[in-house]
Amino acid sequence: MRGAIVAVGREILTGKTLDTNSHWLAGELTAMGIRVVRISVVDDVIEEATQEISYVLSMGPALLLTTGGLGPTRDDLTLRAWARALRRRMELHVQALEIVKSRYQELYRQGFVDTPEITPEREKMAWMPQGAVPLFNTVGTAPGMLIQEENRILAALPGVPKEMKAMFEGALSPLLAERLKERGEERVMLEEVIHTGFKDESLLGALVNRALGGIEGVYPKTLATHFGPDVDLAVRIEAWGKSEREAKEKLKEAVEALRGALREG
Ligand code: AMP
Ligand code: MG
Repeated sequence: MRGAIVAVGREILTGKTLDTNSHWLAGELTAMGIRVVRISVVDDVIEEATQEISYVLSMGPALLLTTGGLGPTRDDLTLRAWARALRRRMELHVQALEIVKSRYQELYRQGFVDTPEITPEREKMAWMPQGAVPLFNTVGTAPGMLIQEENRILAALPGVPKEMKAMFEGALSPLLAERLKERGEERVMLEEVIHTGFKDESLLGALVNRALGGIEGVYPKTLATHFGPDVDLAVRIEAWGKSEREAKEKLKEAVEALRGALREG
């Protein structure tokens, strides 16, 4: 299953904010066995966000996640971009409005906001592309968005990292695990880092390819650092299997093959 991530936010493009959301999501998706084929960042400009979402959808991934741009301000326009890309109308979603209301009532009770009233800015967060399902935000106020189709899952997650992670773990991750199972594509990845004593990656690469090139489901990555007398280059071996046992066996086979090749030099 292929997945893609689009981060929306000018603060990333101007170097003010590091895109840790894509970094974290890519790790989570990869660990589940989803192959992330693209990560991109776009400005808070409706035409540009729409164009990017349309383009990535045209690549045909089974999963597209956006992060950012769900809040109450004018520059939070991700759901409008989704609607344009999918050629759907925006509508005030009753359930999403209930989520927004309940979150502000809770924050009011806790004394974090001055009024629980639904202002136009707050209501804005409940407008979604037609047919979308809102995702509850346990940390902030803006609901996320989910569109489940037969052959793809589309979702918009918040930009605030804590909100994004809670929503991914609470709502999306179980759904993705289920979808992967349906497709017979669940995967477990195990990894081990082996120190090699090599100082030159160009030499190490050839040895690694010779040792591990023939083992399917095993991906070695030489971890380049710098040049110098103190260098001891490491190789990270990723092994994938349909089960923990299969991944363990693959990893053992690969580690032994690499250790053997290193002994032989
Ligand atoms: P937004 O909902 O897009 O307005 O984002 C709210 C805040 O979350 C931003 O001001 C950033 O501090 C943070 N944020 C947004 N996108 C990201 C991202 N991709 N990675 C890390 N932090 C982000
Ligand atoms: Mg933003």
